[in-house]
Amino acid sequence: MDCVFCKIIQGELPCHKIYEDKRVISFLDINPINKGHVLILPKDHYLNLMDTPPDLLKDLIVAVQKLAPAISEGVGAKDFNLGVNNGPASGQIVAHLHFHLIPRFLTDNLYPWPGKTLADDEMKRIAENIKKLIV
Ligand code: AMP
Repeated sequence: MDCVFCKIIQGELPCHKIYEDKRVISFLDINPINKGHVLILPKDHYLNLMDTPPDLLKDLIVAVQKLAPAISEGVGAKDFNLGVNNGPASGQIVAHLHFHLIPRFLTDNLYPWPGKTLADDEMKRIAENIKKLIV
């Protein structure tokens, strides 16, 4: 399979690895948003969050909780963003599920996305539509 992360996991491509266990690996993002930006991903190939078995998602989030304090201390940033780009419209480029852990500094000038204001009846309609579809 032509997956850059699978190649890293198999040792065919280099990376700056910070952690691995039986099912999870973490290495520095090659193009960091801030210093200490790491990717945390399953060693097995899954396309995205919806594809990934729940017990493996648990392992991933437990790894995030384990690694975050070391990353924070290592780069001197107490706070971080944790994110998943899920699908092309969200900006997912590498088709192998990965969490981005991005250390944040009060002075880094990275602002959150702008919020929209929707009319209350539209908000109500959206919530009702979604609620009906939860299985
Ligand atoms: P995404 O847009 O969520 O798919 O993010 C993919 C991320 O993988 C980007 O932030 C890239 O900088 C990062 N990336 C791509 N290739 C490599 C690589 N060989 N080693 C480390 N990070 C990579």
